[in-house]
Amino acid sequence: MSEILILGGRVVDPASGLDAERDVLLRDGRVAAVEAPGTLKGVAAAETVDAAGCVVAPGFVDVHVHLREPGQTYKESIATGTAAAAAGGFTTVVAMPNTVPVNDSVAGLEWMLDAARGSVVKLLTMPAATMGSMGMELTDFTALRKAGAVGFTDDGKPVLEDDAMRVALATAARLGVPVSQHAEDTRLTGGCSMNAGPVAFRLGLRGMTVEAEARIVERDIRLLREIEKAEGLKPHLHVQHVSTARAMEAIRAAKREGLHVTCEVAPHHFTLTDEAVGDYDTHAKMNPPLRAEVDRAAMVAGLMDGTADCIATDHAPHAAHEKEQEFERAPNGITGLETALGLALRVLHRGQGMTLARVVELMSVNPARAISLDGRGTLRAGSYADVVVFDPAAEWNFHAKDSRSKSRNTPFDRAAMVGRVRTTICEGRIVFRG
Ligand SMILES: [Zn+2]
Repeated sequence: MSEILILGGRVVDPASGLDAERDVLLRDGRVAAVEAPGTLKGVAAAETVDAAGCVVAPGFVDVHVHLREPGQTYKESIATGTAAAAAGGFTTVVAMPNTVPVNDSVAGLEWMLDAARGSVVKLLTMPAATMGSMGMELTDFTALRKAGAVGFTDDGKPVLEDDAMRVALATAARLGVPVSQHAEDTRLTGGCSMNAGPVAFRLGLRGMTVEAEARIVERDIRLLREIEKAEGLKPHLHVQHVSTARAMEAIRAAKREGLHVTCEVAPHHFTLTDEAVGDYDTHAKMNPPLRAEVDRAAMVAGLMDGTADCIATDHAPHAAHEKEQEFERAPNGITGLETALGLALRVLHRGQGMTLARVVELMSVNPARAISLDGRGTLRAGSYADVVVFDPAAEWNFHAKDSRSKSRNTPFDRAAMVGRVRTTICEGRIVFRG
């Protein structure tokens, strides 16, 4: 029997409406008890965690990470990527399918989930929606779901064709999982490497317009409506890394209408604008790109008012030699697992007055719900012992060189962070100690 006792912390568990000082007992991988301070004193646990001054919350869930294994383990591996996740307070991550080869088969999915890959947190996958993420032939949703798929996506690319997306949404609805959409009308973004706007003009780069994102979001919402009417299904669309005010507004309206839409916002999209591209800084290059201030502000507003459901990192490691190229040739993406909490607390909690409970909702409860995770995203007795202990007031600077990730491609090297992870526990095992 293995026991951990977490003493003297402020338990923030929005799923059970709790925000108070409590001691927490974990036993055999589950939450055994959450009690008033002192009540559990007699328990002789194998390990005690002193959480004085800290928040004790359900471990974070990231529904959007790229772990690069199989095929690109010079950038990241499942072992190193999940170690970075643990350092960032995440106890569950959902790996995107744009590996090499693309994760579009049961055999591929099972290989990734094999314990031999060395994941230190709960690893889940969203396999490709179409074979090879080519946008044509759907993958075997039923078999993949049976093997553990928590949704389907061609992330990195959109499911562009109306018919393919319609069938994907309807098929996923019958299996009770979402289709996660990378909303980019690639017919409008060929040769584009950043946001369309004054910075792109100054740098002489082709820019991606707001319309390229919004048009796909609006099209997908229309498909939800059509499928509901025609087939009596309730399909679930999850919009990945929303970056524009117009897309956020479309999602707000769709939710009001009662359609099943959820969405995520990446920390860089609520923290930075395209000004960060500066003088062709490839560490500020990602897709969707950093946008204008009006869009950044709309991301914050969406996170504040409940339109946005989740914070997801879109952790996308790349090797130094890949980012050290001219801007248009460098690959899209930045790492994000170890800076998500520090940015959320700096920008949203301290900067905008977002409550700690809402931050936990965005990072634990809602992402767990978006993929229907049972027994995670809460500290209710009986749930998995997935816990993050963090100091919400700690001020520090992130140093990319200290990252657990294999890659260092971040615009947040040396950036100020608020809030620091002290301990991460996944299914009753301590997987990170700060
Ligand atoms: Zn994407």
